[in-house]
Amino acid sequence: MIEITLLGTGSPIPDPNRAGPSTLVRAGGQVFLVDCGRGVLQRAAAVGVGAAGLSALLLTHLHSDHIADLGDLLITRWVSTFAPDPAPLPIIGPPGTAEVVEATLKAFGHDIGYRIAHHADLTAPPAVEVHEHTEGQVWDRDGVLIRVASTDHRPVAPTIGFRIETGGASVVLAGDTVPCAGLDELAAGAGALVHTVIRKDILSNVGQQRIKDVCDYHSSVQEAAATAARAGVGALVLTHYVPAIAPGQEDQWRALAATEFSGPIELGDDLHRVQVHARQ
Ligand SMILES: [Zn+2]
Ligand SMILES: [Zn+2]
Repeated sequence: MIEITLLGTGSPIPDPNRAGPSTLVRAGGQVFLVDCGRGVLQRAAAVGVGAAGLSALLLTHLHSDHIADLGDLLITRWVSTFAPDPAPLPIIGPPGTAEVVEATLKAFGHDIGYRIAHHADLTAPPAVEVHEHTEGQVWDRDGVLIRVASTDHRPVAPTIGFRIETGGASVVLAGDTVPCAGLDELAAGAGALVHTVIRKDILSNVGQQRIKDVCDYHSSVQEAAATAARAGVGALVLTHYVPAIAPGQEDQWRALAATEFSGPIELGDDLHRVQVHARQ
């Protein structure tokens, strides 16, 4: 069984009730954080997961809303890991990830220096191990396999989706993308597809061109649902709602997805959990 927790279902626009894009995936006793948007560690704390308890950080792309709390995550893991000589945090993302991680550690360079000077048992900066990929298998540990494929969020490039599998259960995390062959192939037959969505019917009517621009590199609710249908996934999990789902509007969003996908459709607030079992 794989458990998905929508830690943050928000967007770049700060929302009092929704943290930034982040999804927690627990599989085979391992804990994966997919993207690390605003407020991610507060949401993770709500489900008993701390930065020190993560098996790996997986990044779909380097847009600010998806990496906003990278610094918080790296520093908090570092100061809250008490084992001597801790293993480095594996970070798997698209090309560019190593540069972002290095720059983030540099931005916190003063903090890192203060803490090393103050605590005798902190002798080195946060240990990380960055792997950049655009396709293929990226993880094979204790029965958990992770594969990535390219998605299409241009001009943001490269971007990747993740497929996490264990014991016959599988979950695909699309990140931000328009429908594309890479995602169709990655998601084929998966137990669940977690897909970010925007309401093009709403955004295309907003006055500001900068808001309208958002439409051309994301999937609408219907497009994400059509991807789920083409790939034949077991369930569709929607997140990263733009604009935020207004209270009481969940059924309207679900109905839009149901025009294209006939399986179970999951959406909701931060901390919404979905269990994905092995498919028969
Ligand atoms: Zn994006
Ligand atoms: Zn985004």
